[in-house]
Order: sequence, then structure tokens, then C-alpha cells
Amino acid sequence: MTERPYVVGNWKMNGTRAMLSEARAIDRSSQRLMKVEVALAPPFTLIHAVHKEAAQLAIGAQDCHTDEDGARTGDISAAMVADAGAKFVILGHSERREGHGETDALVRKKAEAALAAGLRLIICCGESEQVRDAGAAEDFVTTQLRGSLPDSIEDAGANLSVAYEPIWAIGTGRTPTVSDIGAMHRAIRALLVERFGEDEGAAIRILYGGSVNPDNANELLAADEVGGALVGGASLAAESFLGIVVAA
Ligand code: PGA
Repeated sequence: MTERPYVVGNWKMNGTRAMLSEARAIDRSSQRLMKVEVALAPPFTLIHAVHKEAAQLAIGAQDCHTDEDGARTGDISAAMVADAGAKFVILGHSERREGHGETDALVRKKAEAALAAGLRLIICCGESEQVRDAGAAEDFVTTQLRGSLPDSIEDAGANLSVAYEPIWAIGTGRTPTVSDIGAMHRAIRALLVERFGEDEGAAIRILYGGSVNPDNANELLAADEVGGALVGGASLAAESFLGIVVAA
């Protein structure tokens, strides 16, 4: 575990204004848990409100477009989410890769656009169950990540985090073993050092995501090279999310 773990909630397509009370509760408690960096990615529609009402919490978006503005009905640019109060963006989540056909090259273009808008990045990667069963998980994930990361990132240690999220562990209650997480995170670390150099590569936080809950967080976050967690379902209620923050 790195010195200050990073625990990020991903609300996905959940949350109306009725859920602002959860964000406020997360904000209030996380102010007392300074040894953990707590962040939340609500849907686009709540970014501004959460930014206003949960003032200490770092707020992020779950996606952005590659372009800055223009005739793109229904799309949202990195500059727009930054203007709404977002400080970071999650890119390349498997639900976007699968549900929206996002390729590594597209994720990389989005990452470049987000950096240009002053946003920090969380780039996701992860293998399917089929790939894991075929014994090809590390190859798959490192190839995916190689194609999804920009060539260079200024102050990469601060501006980039990577989230390893095996697709078969997302929302299923199943998780890899601590030893499998450690092995994957070491492979990702080697790639980051190769791409961004010894110092920056070592400073980038690698988060684990996939069925993290208050009961397993302690064990999963103790795995080798795990710098925090990206949390879906358990981030929707302040109580369970804060249980994970405390465990970190
Ligand atoms: P989960 O989702 O915690 O609900 O498994 C994690 C994610 O997809 O980021």
C-alpha cells in the first residue's frame, strides 16, 4: 500500500439529487480520515451539485469526449466536466469498452483531451474470465494498458492512476486472490516504469476494483502494489463506502 491510499467511488448510472445526502455524508466523514484520499465520480448530471455540496471531496467524471466542443449531440467534453467542478475523469472502464465499443486508441485520445483540460486520469484495464482462464490475463491487460496510455504525461505520478478491474469481478461478489492481484499489479508497475521512468512510474497509484466491500477491503488493499480502490456498488451508500475508506 502506498503512503496515502486513494479510494474512489464510481456511481455509474446511479444517482439523482436525492442522493446528494450520501455525498455530503461521505464528504463530512472523509474530512476526518485525512490519511486516505477520497474521491467520487457521480453521473454528469450531479457533478456540479456534488462539487458544491461536498466541498472537500475530489469530484470526477466517468467519461469525456475527445473533442473540446462542437456538433456532438449528447456528448460531454473534458473542458465541460472541468467547468462543472470535476478534477479527474475515469476512462476506459470495461462498461464503456464493451457497451460503447471504446478501443484502446480512443481511450488514449480521451486521456489526452482530459489532460489538456487539466483533469487527472484514472485509466481502467481488466481481463474477461475467458482470458483469465486461458492464462493470458497479464498479457491482455498490459497490452490493453499500453495502447490506452498517452506516451507522456507531465507529472505522471500525480496526474495518472491506473485501475485494474477484472471484468468478471465487477458487481459479481467474486474477487481474484490477493496473490493474483499482486502479480497483476506488479506487471502493471513494470509497464508504468518502462513508459514514464523510474521515479514517475513508481509514484503512479494502481487501484484495484471489482466487488470491493467493507469486509474484503482490508485484505484486497493489502495486496502487493495496491494503492487504493475503485468502488462501484458499495460506493452508493455512505456507510458502506466509508467502511472501505476506514479499512484502507
Ligand atoms: P463494483 O464495481 O465495485 O460494483 O464491482 C467496480 C467498478 O466497476 O468500478
